[in-house]
Amino acid sequence: MYKPPEETGVIVVGGSLVGLSAAVFLSFYRVPFVVLERHSGSSLHPRAIGFTARTMELFRQCGFDDKFPEVSKSFTLRRVRVESLAGKWFEEINWTERDSPKEAPTTAPPKIEYSPRQGAGIAQDTMEEILRQQATACGADLRYKHKVTRVAQDTDGVTVTVAKDDGAEYLLRGSYMLAADGSRSSIREGLGIKRSGRGSIQVARSVLFRASLDEYLQKGVSQFNIDQSDLKAFLTTYSDGRWVLIFIDDIERNEDELKAAIHQAVGRMDIDIELITTGRWEMTALVANQFQADRIFLAGDAAHALPPNRGGYGANTGIADVHNLAWKLKAVLSGQSKPELLETYDDERRPVALLRHDQIFVRSDYKAHLVSPSGETDVIDDDAMEFGQLYRSQSILGAGKDLPKARRPDEWAGQPGSRAPHFWVRQQGKTISTLDLFEDKWSLLFQNEEWKHAALQLNASFPITIRQVQMGIDVGLSESDTFTKAFGISSSGASLVRPDGYIAWRSVDLPSTPGDVLRDALAHAAFLV
Ligand SMILES: Cc1cc2nc3c(=O)[nH]c(=O)nc-3n(C[C@H](O)[C@H](O)[C@H](O)COP(=O)(O)OP(=O)(O)OC[C@H]3O[C@@H](n4cnc5c(N)ncnc54)[C@H](O)[C@@H]3O)c2cc1C
Repeated sequence: MYKPPEETGVIVVGGSLVGLSAAVFLSFYRVPFVVLERHSGSSLHPRAIGFTARTMELFRQCGFDDKFPEVSKSFTLRRVRVESLAGKWFEEINWTERDSPKEAPTTAPPKIEYSPRQGAGIAQDTMEEILRQQATACGADLRYKHKVTRVAQDTDGVTVTVAKDDGAEYLLRGSYMLAADGSRSSIREGLGIKRSGRGSIQVARSVLFRASLDEYLQKGVSQFNIDQSDLKAFLTTYSDGRWVLIFIDDIERNEDELKAAIHQAVGRMDIDIELITTGRWEMTALVANQFQADRIFLAGDAAHALPPNRGGYGANTGIADVHNLAWKLKAVLSGQSKPELLETYDDERRPVALLRHDQIFVRSDYKAHLVSPSGETDVIDDDAMEFGQLYRSQSILGAGKDLPKARRPDEWAGQPGSRAPHFWVRQQGKTISTLDLFEDKWSLLFQNEEWKHAALQLNASFPITIRQVQMGIDVGLSESDTFTKAFGISSSGASLVRPDGYIAWRSVDLPSTPGDVLRDALAHAAFLV
């Protein structure tokens, strides 16, 4: 017999990268939640190392992106086919062929700065520790060695049975659940949600080890396809003395065999190797056919398992999932928005995952594994994939089906459904990014004073506060048309930005009744009660 369940707003199952990111974002939006993780902490075997500038923008919104060291502006993740580190080096393999330096025109225009941040190269376990500290500092309830063994949802909430390490069990009830329980998600399976996609590619084995091999990183290459007749493997570093050798086979090797393979991949017998751990994992490409089942949401690998790739489409996609969902949960749990707002999570995030799935297999690293082309078969520009995948949902006004799935921010020019563009502005003597203007609220960006009155009127009568930013007055612009060009409006227009930094609606010019038009747009996009 259990005690009556404890109650919370959101139950997060899984305290790895995506569950911890959810903890950070839910804390930021002041949503009550509990994270349940069956293990005692991070996996000994870090997986991800590449975190994109877009991910850093999300952490910047929560005010702690400075915890992650930036890669240099000219950084690209370079991969070379080699005999061994010390042996012959063959050709370089580009992630996106169009970015090949060989093809770059000699008079290429300077690259547009799409983000206030560079990405970060940091091992997943180190990243998770930073997220854990950030969430804990915000008072998050993170419960390790707490395994969810049963899930039941009804019309009002979700109740889980939790087994603790000592065998004791208890019930926890939440209004909603976020399943960040990984690729083999038992929650997804329990809900009977199927997945689609390329499917299983292969089972891979890996060995994590420590060795002094930094001399081989001096040319700026950090990924190596080892190509010997009796050793085909992938070698890379976590840039902290740890390296991982991934075998593209499913053979179990003992310690001596592992060390021999590492020596062979390095091409030297005289290096000291400290074995840390080994891994066995399935390289798979599958996207869940739905990301929501009533009050339960799938996020991260539970929603989309994609093979490791240089676009960072794995962990980074999962982090963006929970960022998309956190403010919506806040809006609904606070009674401000109708629960239908939550349905836009699937509408917005599933197409992102599907496009990323397809883009992996049109690039050289995985082309050989493409079985039957589906969806988009052209290679999409990397900046468009990172900053410009379009959201289409009932929370976005004016993002029609005819629009492409992804474009670069300058090409979108403020299109509703795209992330608001970044450019630098001056505020109170400081240079900040436009992305820093949004904080955790709906924001209206405009130049014409009329919009200020419209927003103030709305704030007085609506259960929601719009932050007003009069561009050129509240913040200084480098050039008079920087704002209108980037947001695709005239100097009398306005752009309404959601709490997650996506443009929900814009008015290119000043309508005759801006107050009414703004109220209708906000009521629609925010699903106001
Ligand atoms: C070799 C490799 C390299 C990679 N490199 C990159 C990269 O550079 N960039 C990138 O973006 N992605 C990368 N990825 C992908 C990335 O590692 C994953 O996308 C990411 O770990 C997914 O995080 P997650 O939190 O969704 O799932 P997981 O990390 O799988 O975590 C799920 C968590 O849920 C817990 N859990 C499961 N069931 C329960 C339960 N019933 N109760 C309580 N807890 C439960 C598990 O213990 C686990 O901690 C890489 C992957 C691999 C394999």
